[in-house]
Amino acid sequence: MNKTLIKGATIVNEGEIKIADVLIAGERIEKIASSMVAPIGNIKTIHAEGLFLIPGMIDDQVHFREPGLTHKGNIFSESRAAVAGGITSYMDMPNTNPNTTTLALLEEKYQLAANSSFANYSFFMGINKNNLEESLKINNETVCGLSDDGLYFDNQDGLVCNHPDYLDKLFSRADALIALHCEDESIIEKNLWQFKEKYGNEIPVEYHHLIRDEQACFTATQRVLEIAKKHNARLHILHVSTEKETTLFDNKILVNQKRITAEVCVHHLWFSDKDYKTQGAFIKWNPSIKSETDKQGLLQALKDNKLDIIATDHAPHTMEEKTGNYFQSKSGGPLVQHALPILLELYHYNNISLQEIVRRTSHNVAEIYRIKDRGYLREGYYADLVLLDLNKKWTANQDSILYKCGWSPFTDYQFKSKVIGTFVNGTHVFDNGNFNNTQHGQRLLFEKER
Ligand SMILES: [Zn+2]
Repeated sequence: MNKTLIKGATIVNEGEIKIADVLIAGERIEKIASSMVAPIGNIKTIHAEGLFLIPGMIDDQVHFREPGLTHKGNIFSESRAAVAGGITSYMDMPNTNPNTTTLALLEEKYQLAANSSFANYSFFMGINKNNLEESLKINNETVCGLSDDGLYFDNQDGLVCNHPDYLDKLFSRADALIALHCEDESIIEKNLWQFKEKYGNEIPVEYHHLIRDEQACFTATQRVLEIAKKHNARLHILHVSTEKETTLFDNKILVNQKRITAEVCVHHLWFSDKDYKTQGAFIKWNPSIKSETDKQGLLQALKDNKLDIIATDHAPHTMEEKTGNYFQSKSGGPLVQHALPILLELYHYNNISLQEIVRRTSHNVAEIYRIKDRGYLREGYYADLVLLDLNKKWTANQDSILYKCGWSPFTDYQFKSKVIGTFVNGTHVFDNGNFNNTQHGQRLLFEKER
């Protein structure tokens, strides 16, 4: 069995920061102890003094675009960017082509990932008004959950949050985790009409947050929560983008006992409406980037335990797809390579602690999805680990961008911290800019009950 000893790293795990050695045996962590002597035999030693070691980020919301939209990205290219960014597991959304709305299409995606993914993976089963019976058949121990995310681009019914009758049926019958994108489309339509009257097709992108506005988010989230509570459904609200919505979440329940959980995405913690001036459509997302007050409110809601996890909503589009007028430029952008580095910028600016970053990107994701043996640095758990240099400046220049779409909203930004190495299932898949292409990630498994 291959063994690796990581010596002298500063470990951030389960609320503590301490120096320790970590011994990896095969796919798992065998031992964590202070100053371990390397066991005799074939063992690789990594001297990590001065570096930080954390459990890899588990990103529960990505769009890797395979199958069918591979001009934007594919599982190989985007999972490669993910491990370079310190993400060791991900959950991919159903708005590929075809949409993932049958069990057969869902299993096809697992096959694709088994042959090409650098990181561990799970795929959401897509839900719409027409596939309720099919969607209820997923196996909760091998599939992360149900989601409508991104499907509104392709169907005329739009987001399921706007269909209370359907939600009643779904929430009363599903025992899986249900992850929803919440924006009220009638409010958005009304706002859009007003801006279209004034600007025609040339609506300045800086008004995106006044079209897909705070009220659209709040109204939809509030409606969905009410129906979910009525049925005690297991609901996860994706990408909360406003301070107002955070008032809807309970912070007095332990995360692994919550029936309703909430997520915030990296871009909503970093950008605000001020940035539309310089970034334009590069920061056009749905839900939109809101005000500075919202951004501060979201950071506060993480501190207050109202938001449980941090994700990316990595959604690459080509440069052409991001250009044109308001109606032509697509919403979404690539993030997996730069998400953890951006959270570490927030750490350097005293907006979030290292322990909280680890808790929100790894521990709590493992808790709310009941992921088996991942999300912590624990003996017996999978060795999904990330080595960080918190004081190594680097610039996200064009050559360093690994996304298939070839651009990033962080191009030319100088980061203060760098991902030095990433281990997935004990394999050193990313080592100082070099990749190990021979090992693939594994399908995530979930515990039924704790
Ligand atoms: Zn979404």
